[in-house]
Amino acid sequence: MTKITPQPGIMEIALYKSGEAVIAGKSETLKLSANESPYGASDKAKAAFARSAATLHRYPGTDHADLRAAIAEVHGLDPARVICGVGSDEVLQFVAQAYAGAGDEVIHTEHGFAMYPILAHAVGATPVCVAERDRVVDVDAILSACTARTRIVFIANPGNPTGTILPEAELARLAEGLPESAILVLDGAYTEFADGYDGGVALVEARENVIMTRTFSKAYGLGGLRIGWGYAQGAMIEVLNRIRQPFNLSPTQLATAEAAMRDQEWLTKVVSDTARNRAWLTEALRETGVEVDESHANFVLARFGSEDEAAACDAALRADGIIVRRVGGYGFPNGLRITVGEESACRRVAHVIGLFKGVR
Ligand code: PMP
Repeated sequence: MTKITPQPGIMEIALYKSGEAVIAGKSETLKLSANESPYGASDKAKAAFARSAATLHRYPGTDHADLRAAIAEVHGLDPARVICGVGSDEVLQFVAQAYAGAGDEVIHTEHGFAMYPILAHAVGATPVCVAERDRVVDVDAILSACTARTRIVFIANPGNPTGTILPEAELARLAEGLPESAILVLDGAYTEFADGYDGGVALVEARENVIMTRTFSKAYGLGGLRIGWGYAQGAMIEVLNRIRQPFNLSPTQLATAEAAMRDQEWLTKVVSDTARNRAWLTEALRETGVEVDESHANFVLARFGSEDEAAACDAALRADGIIVRRVGGYGFPNGLRITVGEESACRRVAHVIGLFKGVR
């Protein structure tokens, strides 16, 4: 019998599985399963990536000053209160490591992101799953689930895989109603796609128990490079920086992300094209009889009559070389989450689903 045992909670973690990138036997796969940008990264970001090759032998700076300055300038924030990580996943991890431990509770919601319970278990805390209402985060249900042990509440806004959004007044009500010991994490991985929403800046400015997180993985088309950031009041950022590895981001990550952030023209184009294609896809899928909520992200959640029907539609899409995401693990056994691709990709998806539903 081995005496080597992991920390409590670790074996509770369900391994995070990302879907496949290609369909075996197909010459070409249309991958619409990971909410990646079909437009890739901006040319300016790619040029900065290439230039960074000249400095690969150098350790990166540890304070991320240039990247934080770019993020702060673009969003009108205080650069001293921005923290950068290896994807927003790492910033979420900093929060869990710094603020939760054995005996503590970490709240996430029914259709929330899979990383939340993983992060809770990884630090020995207990994840507490709270129901949503009609696929929207339910503030009252969260407030009722809070106890004196609640340390963190993770909310994805817009939600993944729902694409729904909680209005800022509701976010404020949540932040205000939490026990004094609890932090609200506003995970804004899809914020850029949510018209008129800035990820919760006003709430961060007003309250010391709120942190917002953002990413370069989605709208900026840099999922492969792993860069994210967070914004909170100075006291929390000071805590998080203590556990951040000093060299967590490479020169390549830093330079590419900075150039991407400064290329807002590219971002605007990506966001407006995505919004147009999302509206078209939502309508086209509804016309086939599939249920689709209005999405504020770069994907839509298609809900079918049953799990079997979703599985059969998934198979029909795969037969056509299209990969989408089954989301049974997120509480939607009858759902398929479909990334909003370019117009031609949306048309292909709608065509296959229309045929599947017998309306084309
Ligand atoms: N939050 C949500 C809701 C997400 O969907 C994702 C990506 N799947 C992340 C956070 C993490 O993104 P990243 O680490 O690439 O920034």
